Amino acid sequence: MKSISVLGSTGSIGTQALEVAEKEGYRVKALAAGKNIGLAENQARLFKPEIVAMFDEKAASDLKIKLKDTDIKVVSGEEGVCSAAAAECDMVLNSIVGIAGLKPTLTAIAKGTDIALANKETLVTGGVIVNREAKNNNVKIIPGDSEHSAIFQSLQGAPERSLKKILLTASGGPFYGKKKEELKNVTVSEALNHPNWSMGSKITIDSATLMNKGLEVIEAVHLFGVSADNIEVLVHRQSILHSGVELTDGAVIAQLGTPDMRLPIAYALTYPERPATAFERLSLSDIGTLTFEKPDVETFRCLSLCIEAINKGGIAPAAVNGANEQAVKLFLEGKIGFLQIAELVEAALADAENKKDFSIEDIFLADKQARQAVINSVSR
Ligand code: NDP
Repeated sequence: MKSISVLGSTGSIGTQALEVAEKEGYRVKALAAGKNIGLAENQARLFKPEIVAMFDEKAASDLKIKLKDTDIKVVSGEEGVCSAAAAECDMVLNSIVGIAGLKPTLTAIAKGTDIALANKETLVTGGVIVNREAKNNNVKIIPGDSEHSAIFQSLQGAPERSLKKILLTASGGPFYGKKKEELKNVTVSEALNHPNWSMGSKITIDSATLMNKGLEVIEAVHLFGVSADNIEVLVHRQSILHSGVELTDGAVIAQLGTPDMRLPIAYALTYPERPATAFERLSLSDIGTLTFEKPDVETFRCLSLCIEAINKGGIAPAAVNGANEQAVKLFLEGKIGFLQIAELVEAALADAENKKDFSIEDIFLADKQARQAVINSVSR
């Protein structure tokens, strides 16, 4: 029986991963989350893991009381989340949101455990170090993000070095077709109203600004070893073709399916197997038309800013990511406008030191400084 640990278990991806785990009959060894103790308790009672970590200290102590009739160990803080990541198992699925996922990823790698990676910020901020450590520890990183899963699936059977170009699709988000002037006063609820996917709030806002696609370009650079110049972003409103590749002979191979995250999650967890699932099947004749177009990078600048950040390299992507995380938080709290997110990300990119040699501490420092710069510029 396959054993897994799920980090970010109470989130959109985490709950879907546990649905897959239940269906496949996996043993769940560890769970980690932020502060949602109601759901964490239910998950703990259902899956009976050895350890549950809550990042929030108060949540952890409340959960400890709730679970005192069980022998499940409850731990807290970043250290606790990392101990959940280090639990003995076949695979760790990391669906924590934000750079908070980076240390747990590195912990699982150090332990030699393969990773199903949904937490894109892990590779955006620490891609160089994560790849190096994964190689040294012989750890496989299987993408859980739908686009990267599609690219990974499209490459199955392709000879090494035959990847010429990546076709990375984007839904265009809730503000597709709008110009800057129309985005000045959009509300949080309008930005959270994604046309095709139901996801956590941070990634939904990232989808509205196209930051999500920018983060995915950086993620793809690290996962597939191509430069950003060889990644073409295409707006594809239907979210049916989840991404693809062009190979050296000119063949284009892509993966299609209904917009259902359980499919890429199940693929990451079961790779290379393809167990039967009961997910909705794709009917191309019902869909009829698939459209593709270039993104509007004038209006949605975050995409270009991320490409600039990965081309600049070093700690620039971590700075850009940190500024975005902080800016999205402030937008969700109603403290800044939608268009300010890109402005704050741009400032972080301009400020990012051009450091070629960097450590994990440098990454966390760049993240911290970028967040602080956002806070300072907003409170000015
Ligand atoms: P959610 O906001 O729905 O869930 C985030 C999860 O992370 C929750 O379980 C939350 O716990 C937990 N969490 C937050 N902070 C910490 C922390 N410091 N330590 C441990 N756990 C923490 O996000 P999503 O599921 O939407 O996204 C998760 C990741 O997957 C993101 O990186 C996103 O970009 C990526 N992704 C998501 C997709 C989607 O369809 N949702 C698609 C592709 C990628 P709690 O709720 O208890 O506070």
